[in-house]
Amino acid sequence: MNFAIPAAISQEIHQLRNFVRTQLLPDLPSWTHKQKTPDRFFQLMGEGGWYGIKIKGGRLIRGSALREAMIAEELAKVSPGVAIVALAHVDLGLMGLLLFGSQSLHQTYGASAVQGKTVMCLGNTENKAGSDVAGISMRAVKVDGGWMLNGTKAYVTNGLIADLGVITAVSNPRAARNKRLSMYLVNLNTEGVHKKKLNKQVWIPSDLTRLRFNNVFIPDDHLLGTRGRGLKQVLEVFTNSRVPIAALTLGTAVGAFNLAYEHMQKRTVFGKKLLDFQAKAFELSDFYAKIEAARLMLQKACWKIDQGQDFRRTSSLAKYLAVEVAREVTVWAADIFGAASVIFEHPIHKYPLDVWAASLGEGTQDIQKLIIFRELMKNQGASFF
Ligand SMILES: Cc1cc2nc3c(=O)[nH]c(=O)nc-3n(C[C@H](O)[C@H](O)[C@H](O)COP(=O)(O)OP(=O)(O)OC[C@H]3O[C@@H](n4cnc5c(N)ncnc54)[C@H](O)[C@@H]3O)c2cc1C
Repeated sequence: MNFAIPAAISQEIHQLRNFVRTQLLPDLPSWTHKQKTPDRFFQLMGEGGWYGIKIKGGRLIRGSALREAMIAEELAKVSPGVAIVALAHVDLGLMGLLLFGSQSLHQTYGASAVQGKTVMCLGNTENKAGSDVAGISMRAVKVDGGWMLNGTKAYVTNGLIADLGVITAVSNPRAARNKRLSMYLVNLNTEGVHKKKLNKQVWIPSDLTRLRFNNVFIPDDHLLGTRGRGLKQVLEVFTNSRVPIAALTLGTAVGAFNLAYEHMQKRTVFGKKLLDFQAKAFELSDFYAKIEAARLMLQKACWKIDQGQDFRRTSSLAKYLAVEVAREVTVWAADIFGAASVIFEHPIHKYPLDVWAASLGEGTQDIQKLIIFRELMKNQGASFF
């Protein structure tokens, strides 16, 4: 067993820290104030090669999962809201295109998307169905040469700024639950697409947008994957994106932990630094141990992906543990700052809120437990350990 991070990845992460310091941090207050990530951010990420999906010979390919997780963690340490913008573009939108797009769709959109010139998102959740992915009601009706889309996607990250969306819809309402849906690649700058940005307090500066589709035509060749297999396909996208979102969540915990540690070294109470109180020092050790344990599970999930092994159970374990740990760490870290932590502009303020958001994406904690349990039951009779 080798726990060492490959030197090439460590070197890249070092360069990424430089990128974050020079290209992201100076603009972050303005993006936060405007609650918007500029197009330039996507392009800078593309130019730096920081996306986990690349294009080779006209085909989209996935890079190292470990490298991608470390990049997500690094971005989230300073801004989970910026990290999710990149994640929704690559691990939801682009991932849908990578897994289920034809060679011709890869060629048409792939290069522009990996360069950050075309921004992507994924819309599945509706008002009446989130965890129950199959329960959506948006309709895709077969017409001459394509499909007509009608309905509303309630919560779409990047929905406001994305050019292209991976969208699920009911293509056969009479079919069984697992054959009712299909998946489409939809131009979001076309007639009939209405966008309404929602007012939220989490993952700033990302946008959360309601997308309404009113008689939107989708050509036949923009059906992703197989007609009627949309449910299985969107679940496969979520299984894949669960690992980078676990990394984003871990980064949220680490960002908050680092701020708390800095503050504990400076803040004096009752004549002593906070860090000199043994109760506080023990808290630091406790949370450090939990972060490291969650990181090990995340790295195991990355390793499984990079080895081409089944990673379903491990990706849910990684997301579940990252959220549990990050919930505890971020609330503790905010507490270390006392009253200052409730001020919107205070650097610590966002972290507990951003974990709240992270707990919902790619399946709530209940859904992770459901997946873990189902995976365990597949091995019934055999030892779980
Ligand atoms: C900031 C943000 C960004 C988002 N971005 C996107 C996006 O880009 N694209 C997209 O499609 N969606 C997005 N979502 C939606 C997100 O995926 C859903 O919120 C999530 O899947 C939960 O669905 P729901 O909100 O409908 O809650 P529900 O599914 O109604 O769940 C409500 C409660 O019931 C529990 N529950 C559900 N099913 C079970 C079960 N079987 N057993 C036990 N308990 C259960 C849940 O854990 C939860 O506590 C986003 C949400 C947020 C907050």
